[in-house]
Amino acid sequence: MTTDERDRPAGNGNGLEHDQPADDRSLAPGTDIVAMWRRRRQASWRLEPLECCSCADPWPCRCHERAPSAKMIDAGADAAEHLLAAGLTPMFDIDTQRQLWRGGHHRLVHRLRSAYGLAS
Ligand SMILES: [Zn+2]
Repeated sequence: MTTDERDRPAGNGNGLEHDQPADDRSLAPGTDIVAMWRRRRQASWRLEPLECCSCADPWPCRCHERAPSAKMIDAGADAAEHLLAAGLTPMFDIDTQRQLWRGGHHRLVHRLRSAYGLAS
């Protein structure tokens, strides 16, 4: 790290530098994540539903997500093949499996469905 890099302020203002060890960015010991999620969900009950759907919390809303590009599908297939080669089973929901199928990754979808215990 150069002197210039060390002296500049944090880029996004959150105080987290990219070159910090991962442990410095994790939550404090004893942080109750479930309680945090519960408070967020309860806070969302006080909000008006979004215009796009019945969600009140914009975090889980998927209305504005774009369909993955062919390149993203191919990258996901490559990642899945890598995990399968390592003895791990990647989990894809049915919509993602359909996108993989339409992207031409038929053999991969058959392998995944077999690993999930589903008939192809
Ligand atoms: Zn929505």
